[in-house]
Amino acid sequence: MLEVQRDLLDYQGSGTSVVEISHRSPAFMDIAQRAEASLRRLLNVSEDYLVLFLQGGATLQFAMVPLNLSVQGETVEYLDTGLWSQKAISEASYLRNVHVVASSTDSVPDASTWDRSSNSQYLHITSNETISGVQIPDYPLDDGVTLVADMTSDILTRHLDIDKFGLVYAGTQKNMGPSGVSIVIVRKDLCREPRQGEPLYLNYRIHAENDSMYNTPNTFAWYVSGLVFDWLLYEGGVAEMQRRCEEKSRKIYRVINDSSLYFSTVEPAFRSKVNVTFSIRDESLTDKFLTKAAEANIVNIKGHRKVGGFRVSLYNGVTIEAVDALVDFMETFEREIA
Ligand code: PMP
Repeated sequence: MLEVQRDLLDYQGSGTSVVEISHRSPAFMDIAQRAEASLRRLLNVSEDYLVLFLQGGATLQFAMVPLNLSVQGETVEYLDTGLWSQKAISEASYLRNVHVVASSTDSVPDASTWDRSSNSQYLHITSNETISGVQIPDYPLDDGVTLVADMTSDILTRHLDIDKFGLVYAGTQKNMGPSGVSIVIVRKDLCREPRQGEPLYLNYRIHAENDSMYNTPNTFAWYVSGLVFDWLLYEGGVAEMQRRCEEKSRKIYRVINDSSLYFSTVEPAFRSKVNVTFSIRDESLTDKFLTKAAEANIVNIKGHRKVGGFRVSLYNGVTIEAVDALVDFMETFEREIA
């Protein structure tokens, strides 16, 4: 934040703000290339893959993935583990024949039970359902299908073997930087020429040929993300972030498991290490919990409006000390107030 503050006034002694420099200037080209190089290092991305910095959020990828990886009339497979999977499914359904292999909202059905289709162009998964707190613990499929993952909420919080995937995408806003950029890591051979009738802007190859600057990019979010990538490398990379997420989430799940007040509806094996969701058995205490938490300076823990209860997001910026304060508060609330 301090580095951003300094560069907002004067980028590296140039007398110009980092948000005033042109995206075509050598200074921004350098920012862009360094951000990509750092992300490649963090995720160990080989030269077989493109790393794109696009706009339109993860939501635009719900359409770009089917448009680029399949043609009209072809079948594409989706695993439905919650609300974000369902958004991806409904967008793809406008464009292609969508086959849902399995559905569940409080667990991840075992891959052996999935109803697979024999002629799918890819299989799409949502690695972490941000709203319900269901996370896919591992990626067992190894049958040749092109695997696509929406990793918006858990990218850079867990080990990722990119070679197992055809494409991974994520909005920057949770673990990488400000909102406004979506990262797409895609195997080069999956990026084809645009076809007649398709908008050029929705084609990965067009963006790759223009170094993700086919139109004016969100330079600020790109720049801050680069700083965050360097910070993550300095802190020990993805392995260290994974260790911290495991520690942070374990502390809260321990309170939930030991409690007669708090409960989680997510099956233990699939509880997210980045979005911990829980509720209070006596629902009338929900508002009181939030009020008392705010008095203890604990904010932003209200559950998503679609599911209620509480959601504690443990993205890379959240410290262990913050989690300790929450754990302490949860135990005190149960002991003294509930
Ligand atoms: N997928 C997941 C898993 C998300 O959590 C979100 C946003 N919270 C999105 C997609 C949509 O992202 P965006 O708002 O960047 O379009």
